[in-house]
Amino acid sequence: MAQKIWQNWGGNIQCIPQKIRYPKDETTLLRIIQKCARKNQKIRVVGTGHSWTPLCETDQILISLERYQGIESVDTEKMQATVYAGTKLKYLGEELFKHGLAMENLGDIDEQSIAGAISTGTHGTGLKFGIIPTQVVGFTLITADGQLLECSNEKQPEIFKAAQVSLGVLGVISKITLQCVPSYKLKFLSRSEPLEDCMKNLAHYNSENRNFEFYWFPYADLVQTKFSNITDEPPQEANFFNYWSDVILENGVFGAVSELTRWIPSTSSSVAKFTSQAVATSTKTNWSHRVYAMPRLVKFNEMEYNIPLEQFEDVFWEIKECVEKEQFQVHFPTENRVVKGDDIYLSPAYGRDSAHISLHVYKGKPYKQYFKAIEAIFRNHNGRPHWAKMHHLTANELADLYPMWDKFLQIRQELDPKGIFLNGYLQQLFGVKAVY
Ligand SMILES: Cc1cc2nc3c(=O)[nH]c(=O)nc-3n(C[C@H](O)[C@H](O)[C@H](O)COP(=O)(O)OP(=O)(O)OC[C@H]3O[C@@H](n4cnc5c(N)ncnc54)[C@H](O)[C@@H]3O)c2cc1C
Repeated sequence: MAQKIWQNWGGNIQCIPQKIRYPKDETTLLRIIQKCARKNQKIRVVGTGHSWTPLCETDQILISLERYQGIESVDTEKMQATVYAGTKLKYLGEELFKHGLAMENLGDIDEQSIAGAISTGTHGTGLKFGIIPTQVVGFTLITADGQLLECSNEKQPEIFKAAQVSLGVLGVISKITLQCVPSYKLKFLSRSEPLEDCMKNLAHYNSENRNFEFYWFPYADLVQTKFSNITDEPPQEANFFNYWSDVILENGVFGAVSELTRWIPSTSSSVAKFTSQAVATSTKTNWSHRVYAMPRLVKFNEMEYNIPLEQFEDVFWEIKECVEKEQFQVHFPTENRVVKGDDIYLSPAYGRDSAHISLHVYKGKPYKQYFKAIEAIFRNHNGRPHWAKMHHLTANELADLYPMWDKFLQIRQELDPKGIFLNGYLQQLFGVKAVY
């Protein structure tokens, strides 16, 4: 059989695995892992491949969870749902809704698998909410020796804290139990306002709104602010105005002007200013899972760092100054969000309420110098990288940033001493040697 090329969403990572397996149930998933372990074959597991770092790259066995989706059971009293690891967030939202439940917070797309989203510490925005893995109360982990391990705060609590964000190096998560909340409606407002006003009101915007974030377009004096709050208003049918703003403006027109900047990079700053001026005031009211996500049809490369919340303003102004001084030819906005601190060993928000700043560059345009320059600013402020997004940190640097780094490595060594869940990138990232 011809070997299949696998590539991630961004198209920056490609590999040719020896085999791609598509289990549909836990028994098959378990058998695949047991067989690979017996044959000393290395495994990487992939959700939907929405990560830019080479987490899923392999020339051996790739387990794709795209056919392992759905809800196994719902405990309506506890408001908990146990779901298969490959379940896409989009589908999950609709299924939970049928049971009167919802996830308490989400990021800005819903294409990812739940296991992929938790394994990289995916997050949304809001000072009251942790990253998505904080919504997990337990899971079943299939370990390198082919055992099913139940993990939660009560059972195997240390492994639980390690595997809540683990990049798939501790084993394959099979089923996940989520703590949900009753379904709720959100009213979303997007508008344009002067950067100075946004920065003046930042603390207020973050504390007075359930979810707040803003986009700063390089070189522009206007920002796009986005607010979401719980409402009793009836859901709004998708209308042409929403379609115009989400699909035509944010994707169609933005895609076209992005292409212009690729051909004529010197137009980048004008395009950024033009885009900031084109932001119209728009609102959307619907059930929460239909509000968080936006279509993302324009491809880009991304770097994102978590920094301590109280350092956000300093970091933001330094980034702005650096972009303007170095005249980087970029036009995609930076996305600025906040999350509550937690106690998950490899969570970028470990032990601190945090801000997240992400930088995007249109696919096909140079991004390395820009990312490196801004990464230096993040590093000066104890920045921790988003695990799914581009960064250049080494194992030693990461060890200094994560108080539970050694504990995580110890658990990894105990669970997978031969390193069957490692690839070259992960070996280097964690500074470990695989046995084969
Ligand atoms: C357009 C776009 C928008 C995004 N928006 C956001 C956002 O708003 N907020 C944010 O924080 N991030 C965001 N991301 C990043 C994204 O959420 C992460 O890359 C996430 O990991 C993607 O999920 P996935 O299913 O594609 O995972 P994959 O990329 O397939 O895998 C990610 C990691 O999870 C591991 N994994 C997958 N399944 C399992 C399993 N069953 N057991 C153990 N490990 C497993 C993989 O081995 C890998 O290490 C965005 C990415 C894109 C491309």
